[in-house]
Amino acid sequence: MRLTRRSLLASASAAAATLALPSIVRGANPRVVVIGGGAGGATAARYLAKDSKGALDVTLVTPEPQFTTCFFSNLYLGGYRTFESITHDYKTLEGTFGIKVVHAMASAIDRDARTVALSDGSSLGYDRLVVSPGIDLKWESVPGYSEAASEIMPHAWKAGPQTQLLKAKLDALADGENIVMVAPPNPYRCPPGPYERVSMMAHVLKASGRTRSKVIVLDPKEKYSKQGLFAEGWEKHYPGMVEWIPASIHGGIESVDPAAGTVTTSLDTFKAGLGNIIPAQSAGSIALSAGLADDSGFCPIVPASMQSRMDENIYVIGDACIAGDMPKSGYSANSQAKVAAMAIRGALTGSRVFPAKYSNTCWSLIETEDGIKVGASYEPTDEKIASSSSFISKTGEDAALRKATFEESLGWYAGITADMFGA
Ligand SMILES: Cc1cc2nc3c(=O)[nH]c(=O)nc-3n(C[C@H](O)[C@H](O)[C@H](O)COP(=O)(O)OP(=O)(O)OC[C@H]3O[C@@H](n4cnc5c(N)ncnc54)[C@H](O)[C@@H]3O)c2cc1C
Repeated sequence: MRLTRRSLLASASAAAATLALPSIVRGANPRVVVIGGGAGGATAARYLAKDSKGALDVTLVTPEPQFTTCFFSNLYLGGYRTFESITHDYKTLEGTFGIKVVHAMASAIDRDARTVALSDGSSLGYDRLVVSPGIDLKWESVPGYSEAASEIMPHAWKAGPQTQLLKAKLDALADGENIVMVAPPNPYRCPPGPYERVSMMAHVLKASGRTRSKVIVLDPKEKYSKQGLFAEGWEKHYPGMVEWIPASIHGGIESVDPAAGTVTTSLDTFKAGLGNIIPAQSAGSIALSAGLADDSGFCPIVPASMQSRMDENIYVIGDACIAGDMPKSGYSANSQAKVAAMAIRGALTGSRVFPAKYSNTCWSLIETEDGIKVGASYEPTDEKIASSSSFISKTGEDAALRKATFEESLGWYAGITADMFGA
């Protein structure tokens, strides 16, 4: 072949494409492994498989055969949903979308060899890796608290048996006994989540006539998401039943004593008929051990693609990442998963990549059909995922609007779970 400038340029770009598409030139489909089958991981796996139409081998690694969503777990506590209705399996992802689902924990990531070691002793090679392990709890952030202590004072910040335990203890609480919640410091999973939970616990107490009981919230923060809306709702529906105490008043959480059922702050010791302790959080430990996090304990990403700033072959989505202005929510994780899936398909199959757009809405239920919401749209800048427009419910809204907001949340739950697991 005669070498011309054009053929040299052509062979140079073919070489670049070869580097970008390692498995294609080996004659196999490129391999994408997804760690974590929750809001981020299940969505990413589904979009990777669905949109690449068989051009990618997608493997989803997640420990349990079923996944219980944290979203709507507060409605389960409130008696509005069954546990089964918030629990989903991976059968449609396997059967309809051809995703290989492996029920194991990812125990280590070898970033040089591009392999993931699994708890069953096997390992998986990847061309691109999606990491969506959610959060780990920093037990030591609340002195006296531990995994064992959470069997007495549940956190229920990962949905499943902990959520069922919290509900059983709530249902068994005697009238006049108090619930003491230790709320988490920023940043944490689901900013309005603790306060929706307070509303649902107060609802259960009120509905069952246990109005001598109170929910006391010991917060390490001075303010919280949708504060005016929740405070108004508690005053309206649960007068005298909710007491929110910020750090400037209680002076700091000193310790919890699960055996005695007490929470001690600088101000006082609070006796808890039911303790709900939600500790500080970090990215899931697999992200930390793989060196994907910074000193904050969460993982920096490229805002336009969700690519890890530590490793270009890895994408970190959901609660584990640092997503700029986006809150740690299921809606955010689902939105980020679609951006990551598109970027990965672009890199591995040459498909078109559109500019990233993200969105989030967090609905909260205060009392039956009294729903509120907060949300925003986001776009990537060089530094972060930045909010471009936002909205929030207003205090004093009429009952019809609050009912419509609640009904919107029902539609959202049906939609997002179908988007994650396949309808
Ligand atoms: C009480 C409560 C209420 C909430 N309400 C809402 C709401 O109304 N709306 C909303 O949008 N969000 C809500 N959220 C937040 C939402 O649940 C999370 O933000 C979302 O689930 C994060 O998705 P993720 O993919 O990062 O993590 P997850 O959904 O937690 O998924 C992580 C998965 O990874 C698995 N995993 C972890 N480590 C490994 C490993 N090493 N190997 C394999 N698998 C691993 C886990 O077992 C899990 O299945 C709520 C949260 C709480 C606690």
